[in-house]
Parts: sequence; structure tokens; C-alpha cells
Amino acid sequence: MAPARKSRQIKVGPVTVGGGAPVRVQSMCNTDTRDPAATLGQIGQLFAAGCEIVRVAVPDERAAEALPAICAGSPIPVIADIHFDYRLALAAARSGVSGLRINPGNIGGKAKVRAVVEEAASRGLPIRIGVNSGSVEKDLLEHYGRPSPEAMVESALRHLEILDKLSFRDVKISLKSSDILDTVAAYRLLATKTDVPFHLGVTEAGPLIPGTVKSALGIGLLLFEGIGDTIRVSLTRDPVDEVRVAWDILRALHLRARGAEIISCPTCGRCQVDLFGVVEEVEQRLRPLKAIIRVAIMGCVVNGPGEAREADVGVAGGKKTGILFKKGKVVRKVAEEDMVSALLAEIATMTGERL
Ligand code: SF4
Repeated sequence: MAPARKSRQIKVGPVTVGGGAPVRVQSMCNTDTRDPAATLGQIGQLFAAGCEIVRVAVPDERAAEALPAICAGSPIPVIADIHFDYRLALAAARSGVSGLRINPGNIGGKAKVRAVVEEAASRGLPIRIGVNSGSVEKDLLEHYGRPSPEAMVESALRHLEILDKLSFRDVKISLKSSDILDTVAAYRLLATKTDVPFHLGVTEAGPLIPGTVKSALGIGLLLFEGIGDTIRVSLTRDPVDEVRVAWDILRALHLRARGAEIISCPTCGRCQVDLFGVVEEVEQRLRPLKAIIRVAIMGCVVNGPGEAREADVGVAGGKKTGILFKKGKVVRKVAEEDMVSALLAEIATMTGERL
């Protein structure tokens, strides 16, 4: 792993981003922002899963009007996502949000940009410049022939220059393409040109499995190189799954960890218990766990405990039975139907958390 790139630090509400802060986990609500109850319900679920910053779309005035209630009820900082309309940006900034996602080059004229920037500055709100491969300006597309990494970087630098000229420095940038090689190349290139913190993501990544693979590779490659200050996994799915995948990426790279890590075998001809069912149930039940713990669920006693020696606690299936083990050492035998309850009871005792 490369050391973390030295980025400037900004604050999204109380949450630090960049400048040596832990890589932050973000997501975005897919509820109707005009419905504060539904949006707050989803924010609550995201928060419980480990989301640290949440974004909501603000497509119209009614959505902006719902922001005060959403911000007041949210346990995590809320960022307003605005396209083009500077009046919505001003309304959002005055509604208790902790940041704006808006591209200054798209607001329409210097006076409007200045109004939004002054409002954000007076309230200490950061602005995220979000360049997507689909939003690159026409002249850049003509020059580069496509939304190439160079075109995306140039677009980002244009937006950044507008804010620089207004002495506004609380900025982060995202450069998202649905092509992970372009995404990685774009962030790498931009990293040579600015110390602004980066929000990483692969846009329109897709359904759960392909989306997870693309996000893990795109975000993971960059984090491995020390690039990236906050991440958002995009999936065509419940955003709670985005947060879970984000934490799994951070954990796999030993950057951050939270809750239980489940190590389980793929099963083979030696397995004589319903291991898939056991894993699914344990995974569900351990979701609220806060303590960091490694839990192994292995198909057989022949190889299971040995293969999962690194786990803090685990079970391995036998012939319609299971054994409970800790750090590779057998603790006791249990009936197959008690494998889940015995494992959960042991984890509850070890962590002091109720499951
Ligand atoms: Fe097969 Fe046992 Fe290894 Fe699972 S732990 S893959 S059941 S040998």
C-alpha cells in the first residue's frame, strides 16, 4: 500500500475529510427528498450500517423546503445535491445542510456563482465538484474526442479555478466514469495537480455483483495507491448495501474495520450441514454488531478449524453436528441445529453486545 496522498482537510459538519482523516463512507438516499419521513427513515438505516455522510437530491423547491426537517433529524451530515439552479443551492445552504454538491461552471454566470460561494463560505459549508463522464463540457469532448481522463480532469480544474478565484478552498472533487480504467486514470492525473481531497466512486456501476466488482476494483486500486479521502459505492440497489460494500472494501485493504468479518468456506463434498443457511443467518444477525471480530463458519471439521485459525471464534460442521472453536482450538461440540445459536451466544459473551 502506498502512503496516503497529502490532501488538504475539509469538514462536512463535524466529519473531517482528507488531510490524514480516516477514509469516510458516504451514500445517497434514493427516497423522495420531498418526503422527510421516508428520507429520514432511510438515513437511519444508512447510519446504522456505518454511513458517515449522506447526500440527498434537491431537484426542486419542494425538496429544498423539506431540507430543514431532514437536516434536523439526521444523525449524520447531509449534503444537498444540486444541478444548475443556484436558487436551490442558496435555499439548501440556508436549510442546515453540511455541504453542497454543485458544479460552479454550470450555475450560469459569475454573479450566481459568487452568491452561492459567499453563502457557503459564510456558513462553513464545503462544496463538492462532481465531474461525471456524462457531464464533461462540449468543447472538451470535441477536443479530446470522448470523456477521457484528461477531459474529465480539465473539466474539474475549470470548476476548481472558479472557486479558487473567489478564494474558496473548502472543496472536494469527484471524477466519476462508469469505466473503471478511466476513473482510475483520471484521479491519478488529478492527484498530480491539486491537494483538494477526493471523493471516490465509479458511477452507474450496476446491479449488486457487477457493481460491487467494479466499485471494489476502481475504488480499491486508488485507495491502494493512497488516493481517496471519502468513498461512495453506487449500486442499483438499496443504498444500505452500498455502505456494506464500502466497509468491506476498506476492511479488505486494512484501512478501517467495523463489526464482524465473516470467513466462510465455499463448501465441498466433505460438508454435511446446510452451511449456506448457517452463513446467511449469522451474517444477518451480526449486522448490528459494532465490535470488530473475525468469525469463521466452515463446512467440515477436517480442515475447517485449521483453515480458519486466524478467526476469533467459529463453527465447523461435522456429521449432522458442529464444533465451536476459538483461534483454531476446539471448545465444544454442538448439535447442527444449535450451531447458529451457540456461535451467537459465544460472540455476545466475547463482545459484551446483545445479538
Ligand atoms: Fe470443504 Fe471442509 Fe474446506 Fe469447507 S472447510 S471447503 S467443507 S474441506
